[in-house]
Amino acid sequence: MEDPIWSARGQPIKSDTDPSVSPDVSLVKSKDHQHKVFVNRSVTLENIKCYGFDMDYTLAAYKSPDYESLGFELLRDRLVSIGYPHELLRYSYDPTFPTRGLVFDTMFGNLLKVDSNGNIMLCTHGFTFLKKEKIQEYYPNNFIQKSDTDRFYILNTLFNLSETYLYGCLVDLFNGCSRYVNCQKGYKYGDLFTSFRSMFQDVRDAMDYVHESGSLKERTLKNLDKYVIRDPNLPVLLTRIKQVSKVFLATNSDYTYTEAIMKYLLETPPCTKRPKTQWRAYFDLVVVDTRKPLFFAEGTVLRQVDTNTGKLRIGTYTGDLQHGTVYSGGSSDIVCDLLDVKGKDILYVGDHIFGDILKSKKRQGWKTFMVVPELSRELQVWKDMRCKYEWGLENVHLDSSSPECPEIHAIQTRMKMVTYRMDMSYGKMGSLLRSGSRQTLFASQLMRYADLYSSNCINLLYYPFSYLFRATPTLVSPTSDRENTTWTLEMGQ
Ligand SMILES: [Mg+2]
Repeated sequence: MEDPIWSARGQPIKSDTDPSVSPDVSLVKSKDHQHKVFVNRSVTLENIKCYGFDMDYTLAAYKSPDYESLGFELLRDRLVSIGYPHELLRYSYDPTFPTRGLVFDTMFGNLLKVDSNGNIMLCTHGFTFLKKEKIQEYYPNNFIQKSDTDRFYILNTLFNLSETYLYGCLVDLFNGCSRYVNCQKGYKYGDLFTSFRSMFQDVRDAMDYVHESGSLKERTLKNLDKYVIRDPNLPVLLTRIKQVSKVFLATNSDYTYTEAIMKYLLETPPCTKRPKTQWRAYFDLVVVDTRKPLFFAEGTVLRQVDTNTGKLRIGTYTGDLQHGTVYSGGSSDIVCDLLDVKGKDILYVGDHIFGDILKSKKRQGWKTFMVVPELSRELQVWKDMRCKYEWGLENVHLDSSSPECPEIHAIQTRMKMVTYRMDMSYGKMGSLLRSGSRQTLFASQLMRYADLYSSNCINLLYYPFSYLFRATPTLVSPTSDRENTTWTLEMGQ
């Protein structure tokens, strides 16, 4: 991975001429790997005429693990309220267990970590990590047909983390409870059979309930300081973007929640005395209730939101763009029309691999920037452990004069130990991006659909708007090369 280069006409912008920079915000041009934006495909920022942002987990970064704990408790309590055993209440969220991108097997109740082809890297039943022989009993080829989406559910979003942990808890609870008889596809209790499939459906329904009933939103808004990160650099970034291009917000959240979160993020920065800017003024266009991924296809009816009451105005909006107006629904085509931009000129920033990144890229040809909050931790672990890993690889002192063969078994054992220790430093399920040196399904999707990615969208502050993010030229990009690229990227080079 080479460092991106400056474009020919590029000039760094000057932070001291930016009126939005409050005296308490010191912006240093950082070379810290934590602030890096990584490149899968080249993007010339100079050609970007419009920036789009998702809100949840993108502009609004939620505090981990408090936010996931809250989600877990609401889910758990909902399941108990619909009849699941009270013993479930004994479980509380353990952030060291789940990794994003795991697959839940609705037939056998297992959580699986797989690579891009569906080869199994790790498998747990409840919180028990299964040995190779046991995995082969379930999956004879050590492989799953991941395109069988009816059976295998990919837990790809940050909202899925609490759900992932809950699957572990449920299987752990039923396995350990003497009232239930363990069967291959579920549990028997007298004449009643609870299949893993029905358990999965109940959790999915509970997840919809928590989101649609508004209970998660309500609890979040009651304690914003606990659950939402307010970064004083966010208004700085948005002000700078608006000076050079158009900018819009497209969120699946409703108006009331969006208003409260964006107000918190943009209108009440701590320790600043500058006059307040209304949050909507940071955007040329605000669209709520977008229903992504539908938004990137046919979309829904575009309506205006009455910002005084939060209610929708009757009828489809057919007029021109009005600044400060908030719209509901619509589609990505309508956004392009209203802002008078083409898809290829848009850089869209989001955290959802399917709803934000894959669909905007595949259906509309937008440039994509994926926010992956876990990267901070992934980079830190790699930085801390890399010496041990490289020592394991390089500490074989043989050359053409060496008569003896290396002790392959000893080297393998040593590498296994180092890899295991490294994986455990990420969490019990290991890294989001790989298992040992193999790339996960999540990593392969990230590389395929995100042009750029970083731990936080605010990291765009460390690059001028004339920057060329340049990907390494390759003749072809087979999986093995891709793996090497991920490896190098994680090394922060
Ligand atoms: Mg989001």
